[in-house]
Amino acid sequence: MTDLVKKISEFEKLSAPLEPTQSERNQYVQQVRDFANDFINNIDEMDSFFGTDVNADKLKVNLQPISLEKALSIYDEQVVRTGIAAASGGHVGYIPGGGIYLSAIADFLADVTNEYAGMYYGGPGAVTIENEMLNWLKDVFGFPKSAVGNLTSGGSIANLIALTAARDKHGIKNEKITSSVLYLSEHVHHCIQKALRIIGLEDVLVREVELDENSKIITSKLIELIAADKAAGLNPFLVIASAGTTDTGAIDPLEEIGHIAREHQLWYHIDAAYGGFFIMTDRAKNQFKGIDMADSLVCDPHKGLFLPYGLGAVLVKDKEALFKSHHYTANYMQDAFQEGMPLNPADVSPELTKHFRGLRMWLPLQIHGIEPFKACLEEKLYLTDYFRAELIKRGFEVGPEPDLSVSYFWYPSGGDENDFNKRLMEEIHKDGRIFLSSTKVHGREVIRMAILSFRTKKHTIDTCLEMIDRCLAKLI
Ligand SMILES: *Cc1c(COP(=O)(O)O)cnc(C)c1O
Repeated sequence: MTDLVKKISEFEKLSAPLEPTQSERNQYVQQVRDFANDFINNIDEMDSFFGTDVNADKLKVNLQPISLEKALSIYDEQVVRTGIAAASGGHVGYIPGGGIYLSAIADFLADVTNEYAGMYYGGPGAVTIENEMLNWLKDVFGFPKSAVGNLTSGGSIANLIALTAARDKHGIKNEKITSSVLYLSEHVHHCIQKALRIIGLEDVLVREVELDENSKIITSKLIELIAADKAAGLNPFLVIASAGTTDTGAIDPLEEIGHIAREHQLWYHIDAAYGGFFIMTDRAKNQFKGIDMADSLVCDPHKGLFLPYGLGAVLVKDKEALFKSHHYTANYMQDAFQEGMPLNPADVSPELTKHFRGLRMWLPLQIHGIEPFKACLEEKLYLTDYFRAELIKRGFEVGPEPDLSVSYFWYPSGGDENDFNKRLMEEIHKDGRIFLSSTKVHGREVIRMAILSFRTKKHTIDTCLEMIDRCLAKLI
């Protein structure tokens, strides 16, 4: 044997563990399957919040092989049983997560076959699945077939992509930046401000439009602001509405804002990351009237479609505006660009090589059909009513009738109510059985509930109420 061949054979042997044998694969899958079954079977009894102590030493890369069994035990102890149990129905704080099983199966498939979902040329099947998911979203939100879009890692990147298109459509650069104006609500998600900084629009003029008592944009105020800015020789170019704010779940008057945007030729962006999929419910769909007037729209299947974290979506009507920043050809990619090919995800996103994330949306929709998703969203709306009614029975004050499934409450303790409700929140976090979060509304400390997990059921709310009774009793 030549030295060269000997060397190759040596390294082949050493790298062999990277391709486990079938019996090893079966063993891995069985161990993980058992772990997953234990996790899901016990999730209702598990706490929803565990505090934030993690032993980082146990998670360090030690470069010496350990068994999968050992790795799973560390994972359980340091990852699953710390922080918020995001897959639990008991997560009713912030915006809850999902984690439907068939998405996990789809991720497994996507990872084993490692389909390339960046360019049609490399993965025509995978890219077609992603484009079909976007076509379905266009139908859901009344967008035209000619709209383009992208499946992103989440709502933040989806918003970033949309705002980039708005910027480029209106040519907001150089000296134009400081005289250009955008309009939004103070309740807009903070990823919008982040995105503006990232895309070089930190110095545009941002007008926070006054909100009504239900935290929605007052359209007459929007009109006044635009008129004043135009009179001052400024350049209004963008208005951002929310279809379900994170704080209180409020849906801005989408249709009226749409008319104003049209009249003044503003780019109209709607962030529906939290609330968007409620458009599929009979009960809430009317509130989304006008959503199809948007130039760009963001939704988050890892919220409202109950998928595991890692899937947001953006739709944009103006393909050229979106291509301006995101489409690029390099010499080494010349084979991949051919006339008439379907949309490449890489042409509408900062990513090139990406996870084939469309499969985790496609597989559950194919296997379950759409009805269970719609029913689960309807259920969330009615659970919100139930929770509020039960809180009122217990003497709590509740915020205004919510548009969707985010609401808030506080205990009218008398005395320093903000302090009391802060302490109540602390007791609830210490208890940890169910996870709620807090916010400030009109200067008042309130406890927020956001019902969106597919695992949040009536019994979860009952458990939550028992916990609240327990915590309240400690304070009074
Ligand atoms: C969650 C959320 C976002 C951010 O999306 P991520 O998926 O967390 O990146 C943006 N806007 C709203 C309204 C949201 O609820």
